[in-house]
Amino acid sequence: MLVIMRADASQEQMRLLGEKAVSEGFRVRAVPGRDLVFVVTGERRAPDPATFAGQAGVAETRSLRHGYELASREAHPDDTIVAVGGVPVGGRAFVVVGGPCAVESLEQTLAVARRVKAAGGHILRGGAFKPRTHPYSFQGLGEEGLKILAAAREETGLPVVTEALDVDQVDMVERYADAIQVGSRNMHNFPLLRRVGRSRKPVLLKRGFAATLEEFLGAAEYVLAEGNDQVVLCERGIRTFSDFSRNTLDLTIVPALKQVSHLPIIVDPSHAAGRRDMIVPLSRAGAAVGADGVMVEVYEDPCVALCDGAQAVATDDFDLLMRQVGRVAESVDRPLYKKASRTLRAVAGSVA
Ligand code: PEP
Ligand code: MN
Repeated sequence: MLVIMRADASQEQMRLLGEKAVSEGFRVRAVPGRDLVFVVTGERRAPDPATFAGQAGVAETRSLRHGYELASREAHPDDTIVAVGGVPVGGRAFVVVGGPCAVESLEQTLAVARRVKAAGGHILRGGAFKPRTHPYSFQGLGEEGLKILAAAREETGLPVVTEALDVDQVDMVERYADAIQVGSRNMHNFPLLRRVGRSRKPVLLKRGFAATLEEFLGAAEYVLAEGNDQVVLCERGIRTFSDFSRNTLDLTIVPALKQVSHLPIIVDPSHAAGRRDMIVPLSRAGAAVGADGVMVEVYEDPCVALCDGAQAVATDDFDLLMRQVGRVAESVDRPLYKKASRTLRAVAGSVA
């Protein structure tokens, strides 16, 4: 249930509302970024909007009951902007995340990071802990990989996003990363969602490959409900009957999510298509459909990659992607993020 207080509601009235809710066995959470809006939930029974409507200072109560109250636009009409190491995801600007599937070595990661940076990319991706289908495949370098990512950030200034596979890895990942990725296979890992919900780092939450919109937002709600409001959603392809691609990039979910949620959403054509030749066109499509960014896998030589080489672009193609995606994004009024232009605007604003 949503409780919207009157604009002139006092702190005391809000305290009394909280007290009433808790005394009746409910939990109250403040909607981040909105001073006067609260979400009241109950695990055993739903709160009755009528019993809270008469409470002093309350303007409106509304039953939502879809299970993603904090993620919903009803609770938070404005788009949320998530800052990943200073790069805003979900604002007007479009962002591009690029990097290898897995961190293999310092040389490999630095070489790709330099090219991502030079092409105008905004965030570096790379896995140190890899969720592989088979136990004998390359599992990632672990902490050594995280150190390599931190070194690449140090040199290029690109913030870093990397995956934590389980609760025990989160402490370590949050020490090195600017954002913690929760992978597709872990979208339903509720203890992990709760743990990253208690982190101070933003969370990049990938859609489970068989998850509905409701399940996806339910997973995001686990993170938000623990107090972390910095969640970026990522559509990375769902399993369908396609016999020409690894998964199917569900672009349809982008406008659907925009309608019901305030959280930013990026698309990942690499894991969706599983094919290099589709990454640039699907990235253009992601920009056109209104995503807030794209995430793609990039290698200097994808043919020798230890993980997901078939779905990674070579660095030259990443240059092309940046140019074309930039033009498409611009055409839907979402220019590529540029740090300098923000600084200029800030300067202009302070002069004005
Ligand atoms: C990844 O981004 O490296 C990854 C493993 O993605 P997903 O969880 O979407 O398969
Ligand atoms: Mn991968």
